[in-house]
Amino acid sequence: MSVLRIGLDFDNTIASYDELFLRLATREGLLAPDFAGDKRAVRDAVRVGAGDGAWQLLQGRAYGREIAGAKLYDGVIPFLETACAAEHELFVVSHKTQFGHGDDVDLRHAALDWMETVGLFDAGRTGLSRDRVFFGATRDEKLARIGALGLGIFVDDLPEVLLEPTFPSATERWLFDPGGRHVDTSRLRPFQSWAALRDALAGTRVHG
Ligand SMILES: [Mg+2]
Repeated sequence: MSVLRIGLDFDNTIASYDELFLRLATREGLLAPDFAGDKRAVRDAVRVGAGDGAWQLLQGRAYGREIAGAKLYDGVIPFLETACAAEHELFVVSHKTQFGHGDDVDLRHAALDWMETVGLFDAGRTGLSRDRVFFGATRDEKLARIGALGLGIFVDDLPEVLLEPTFPSATERWLFDPGGRHVDTSRLRPFQSWAALRDALAGTRVHG
């Protein structure tokens, strides 16, 4: 079996912000204290009630100085261990500007520090290290990086990223969709958990 090169998105694929956004939005009075919902529900309600500017500020905070409140999705580490044990090569490719709105925190450093804290860079186990994490300032830069790395598989929570016309045609499009929200996935392989992603990876036959 030959080696696969596997790329992973970061925000909302490895890191879950559902609880963090809810907590920040209610704490800052942007939503009622009893509001309930995931990141998408919080986003929609904040935009309607307080405007897109308020949502942008909240994002800058969540991805920056408050990132410690993000959660590692269940099953990420076992997936990495399985991939690493099979000697596949792992990368993180993220669309992330260096700075957010209204804050001077370096969002890329914050993300890297968070990855370190949750144990992603235990390289002997996870196959990941800082030099395998790539940030692009735009979606186009991210897609160009996926192509340049020659990835066989890319995992992302956004169908619109995987379905971009410039997405590399040789890369398999694996959709991480924990809510089972996306209906039309005919050109994607959808997965509702990292356990399912791991099973698929373990069952993937590599030719070449
Ligand atoms: Mg994402």
